[in-house]
Amino acid sequence: MDPRFRSGTYKRIKKKIPSGKVVLHFEKRKVNPAVCAVCKNVLPGVVSRRPAELKKLSKSKKTVSRVYGGNMCSKCVRDKIKREYIGK
Ligand SMILES: [Zn+2]
Repeated sequence: MDPRFRSGTYKRIKKKIPSGKVVLHFEKRKVNPAVCAVCKNVLPGVVSRRPAELKKLSKSKKTVSRVYGGNMCSKCVRDKIKREYIGK
């Protein structure tokens, strides 16, 4: 068994293969959704996939075309801009 599968982070699934044998399969690890850096709310418009799958996706699926898009939610960006320009 691959050493990384020995930890509990991979869920074990018993699968029956066509020959009747039962083999052990491992579920892929869960992916946490992208969250806002300030309020920690889930970011809409940003997909959550495993890193290898994320590499295959286009940039528009991983970000929002706005300043701090894909890192902060719209509300927090608006508040930040207000704080920066309209006094503190
Ligand atoms: Zn936020």
